[in-house]
Amino acid sequence: MTESCAGGSRLTSLVCNSTLPHRLHGSFWAMVFDNFLRRILMKYLSTRGGGKPESFCDILLGGLAPDGGLYLPMSYPRVTANMLNDWRELSYAELAYEILSLYIVDIPHKDLRAICERTYTADVYKYCRDGYNPEDITPLVTLDSGLHLLELSNGPTLAFKDIALQLLGNLFEYELGRRGEVMNILGATSGDTGSAAEYAMLGKKGIKVFMLSPEGKMSPFQRAQMYSLQDPNIFNLAVHGMFDDAQDIVKAVSDDAEFKAKYKIGAVNSINWARVLAQIVYYFKGYFSATKNNDEVVDFAVPTGNFGNICAGHIARMMGLPIDRLILSTNENDVLDEFVRTGVYRPRKNSETHVTSSPSMDISKASNFERFVHDFIDGDPSVVSELWKILKDKGQFDLSGTTWWACTRIKDFGFVSGVSTHADRLATIRSVWKNYRLMIDTHTADALTVARRLRRPGDNVIVLETAQAMKFEETIREATGSYPASHADFIGIEDLPQRVVIIPASSAEVKSFIADNV
Ligand SMILES: *Cc1c(COP(=O)(O)O)cnc(C)c1O
Repeated sequence: MTESCAGGSRLTSLVCNSTLPHRLHGSFWAMVFDNFLRRILMKYLSTRGGGKPESFCDILLGGLAPDGGLYLPMSYPRVTANMLNDWRELSYAELAYEILSLYIVDIPHKDLRAICERTYTADVYKYCRDGYNPEDITPLVTLDSGLHLLELSNGPTLAFKDIALQLLGNLFEYELGRRGEVMNILGATSGDTGSAAEYAMLGKKGIKVFMLSPEGKMSPFQRAQMYSLQDPNIFNLAVHGMFDDAQDIVKAVSDDAEFKAKYKIGAVNSINWARVLAQIVYYFKGYFSATKNNDEVVDFAVPTGNFGNICAGHIARMMGLPIDRLILSTNENDVLDEFVRTGVYRPRKNSETHVTSSPSMDISKASNFERFVHDFIDGDPSVVSELWKILKDKGQFDLSGTTWWACTRIKDFGFVSGVSTHADRLATIRSVWKNYRLMIDTHTADALTVARRLRRPGDNVIVLETAQAMKFEETIREATGSYPASHADFIGIEDLPQRVVIIPASSAEVKSFIADNV
């Protein structure tokens, strides 16, 4: 290391003991033993160190840890060369079972296997491009040698959130059934997350969904996707107001501990550990699809908002998957690009958050980022607590003067980053259409833009495709002059009867609606 490890911050007093995470140390047998122990000891702790170790199923149904932190496993299982060899040819569901079973030791193996098989089937992920195999769940599309798209958006709502939420739906149903409990999920959506959650919970025993959306603010397609669901356990509540009003109501209802307990209110928010866990699987799947043997390394380019997706990539790398770089791409909302470049994490105000043509990345702060920071500062929960206290008091924190920034360096964790603007999206969508006759969506375009900019000769880069072009057809038309083709199932969806209740922006009204309908 050339940088000095001296700095002004009190945080610099801690020892710096970085290693390159993907270089496995220890012998083969040490790792086998390690994995054996983990099966007995796998427990979850808050990033801020409060509370006691919890088992997977206990954190599955909850949200934040009691101290306000996020749950992480006490350590990450490491994959051996043998495991990688054995996993290379597995189906998606089998691979999901192998990876999940390293982290979930409180569901019997045969039940977990059945859940994976139910979740990852070709008829759920049927909307793949012509010529690709829906059995792959996440087919790999090669653009050029060393440049691929991993299709993650072939599920019912045509966005990658289906992959995690469909698993969550099945895990919730299983665990609630086992406990003889029910759950009423309350959420707010500006579009995509709400529909992915509704499709995931559709027909699940013991689960009702109350989803608030801003009346008249979503696209006709998004409205149709959610409101045309006729399942009696799904309630769409269109709130007079904006998305923030809907979100404030959810917060107000959840903060009422008595109401929350009485009506079994739950959430499916993006900080849920099971969602991150589900996403680790496709990094392995993508790696196997894009390489011939396990000596090769790859880069992943990830369109990033709340840091859930790329957090899963970081964990896959910590587990020993041969990932060289994680190419983080933001849109104009560049909070995380700023961190990777400077070490400063500075969440924005709502008024500073841009409305862009890749709306699922329009974030002011990144709700999963705390998990990465925990690992970056060598897993010391007192440091995480202190950083989040600084964040609360000062509105930002700065790691650039600390030991970790100097010694471990963000690069040792594989991170590089860049920003993609509306003009970049248009240019990338246009060039992919022109050169390959493929339509890509605006979020995928953000990742591909930055991947192309940062790619070095010889690199093997997998760009994560997080949504389908037909969800953002106006921008696609602006870029290419034509509308993307629609899957047959979605034609005419806007004319189907809709099931939605219009409700004033008031938490009292929402509470009484829930009370009347549970
Ligand atoms: C949610 C979402 C993202 C951002 O993913 P994070 O896990 O929040 O970083 C990117 N693209 C699409 C299409 C999304 O729906």
